[in-house]
Amino acid sequence: MTVKIEKPKMLPPKNDFGEWYNEVIRMAEIVDTTYPVKGFQTWLSYGWMIRNKVFNILRKFLKDTGHEEYYFPLLIPDNLFSLEKETAKGFEGEVYWVTKGGINPLAVKLAIRPTSEIPIYLMFSKWIRSYANLPLKVWQLVNTVRYETKATKPLIRVREITSFKEAHTAHASKEDALKQVDEAVNIYKKLFETLGIPYIISRRPDYDKFPGAEYSIAFDTVFPDGRTLQIGTVHYHGQRFAKSFDIKFLDSNGETNYAYTTCYGLSERVIASLIAVHGDDHGLKLPPDIAPLQVIIIPITSGKESDNLILEYSNKIAEKLSGEFTVKVDNRDLRPGKKYYEWELKGVPVRIEIGLKEVESNTVTVFRRDNFNKINVKTDNLLEEVQKLMNEIIENMKSDADKNFKSKIYQSEVFFSFTEQDAVSILIDEETGEFKGGIVEVPVCDNVKCELQISNYLTVLGEPLEHRNIKGKCICGRKAVKIIRVSKQY
Ligand SMILES: [Zn+2]
Repeated sequence: MTVKIEKPKMLPPKNDFGEWYNEVIRMAEIVDTTYPVKGFQTWLSYGWMIRNKVFNILRKFLKDTGHEEYYFPLLIPDNLFSLEKETAKGFEGEVYWVTKGGINPLAVKLAIRPTSEIPIYLMFSKWIRSYANLPLKVWQLVNTVRYETKATKPLIRVREITSFKEAHTAHASKEDALKQVDEAVNIYKKLFETLGIPYIISRRPDYDKFPGAEYSIAFDTVFPDGRTLQIGTVHYHGQRFAKSFDIKFLDSNGETNYAYTTCYGLSERVIASLIAVHGDDHGLKLPPDIAPLQVIIIPITSGKESDNLILEYSNKIAEKLSGEFTVKVDNRDLRPGKKYYEWELKGVPVRIEIGLKEVESNTVTVFRRDNFNKINVKTDNLLEEVQKLMNEIIENMKSDADKNFKSKIYQSEVFFSFTEQDAVSILIDEETGEFKGGIVEVPVCDNVKCELQISNYLTVLGEPLEHRNIKGKCICGRKAVKIIRVSKQY
């Protein structure tokens, strides 16, 4: 049968990305942004289920690599906050302070955590006594608040980061700590690969590293509007925090030494990326492992007596699949086209359509959300077919996302003569004249001034981790010695 898809008028096309994003998170019931405190949002049930699925995958990866989940306190006393000077300075403009308890002013004002280095390292200093306590690998998934001054955007730039996953580790040697940095990078790679979110890894420039870190490594992805979003970071602290917080241990020779620490974090920006990278004009497109509902069954009834047969058959099909998948029969009294659109909007990977024709031939019609293909499947093979489809869906989603991502990374051997117009023009499509965005890799000399000059116009994401042969000249005309990546960043 032909069912006309009924598109609500509200979802703008994805190439109008800003509008599309705001509408899709509202219409697909991810978050409600109407709460009257700027940058604070309400997660809706469907969005929260997606969020939990993502973080449960990460939870497993962390557990498998020996990380233990903890919970550290929300408030940080002012005197501790100022202990690590660079961190205090770095977060100076972003901290919310608690200054009163009820009607009484507090003797020591309390910071609401913008991040948890301080409470965690304070406790580390109490727990770590000898090399036998190391390595110590802890993590927590909490909310943090930061007084963000730029324009806020749901799940991307917020004042309450509701889903801040931070891991902190302490080690007996620099070598161990550096290995931990590698392990952290690998965990994040695995997570983003599982979700089909393409990324590029860069070592952030020194002037843009985490306050207090020796160096920072970051994962960035490219959004459909061509701007990049930082989606995960890994920091090596050396002994700096250990010295500020007195995290000392007795080594195997009986000598006292400061520990080496690392930390790595990501947030609900992962959910934003999942939505932005995979979605289309119809709405969300969810990888099967993340979808709260994996199969929606739509009985195509027509008000005739045969409707009962169709409903009964639909329930039987649901039962058949329910051991392996989360399944639901949508038997609401609505037109099928309306139901189709609703579930496409919510990104359900597989839809099963059942009319009288299917009942009579002992088949079902299976629709794939990722590429809109429909096939007719015998019910005897249904379970295997749907399993196969789910694998194909995630692979297809990954390959689409990768292709798109790779097409947005450009190499520029000979850098432009430097004016603001030129800086932006490298990210402009010559044919259409439109901002195409993406990431440009450009050669620069070793004078940081040249990088800083570029950073007046574009964000410097940093250097590739891997070795590159360097060709070309810097903007100053000198021979280039390294590659930096630049983009317009969120
Ligand atoms: Zn230069």
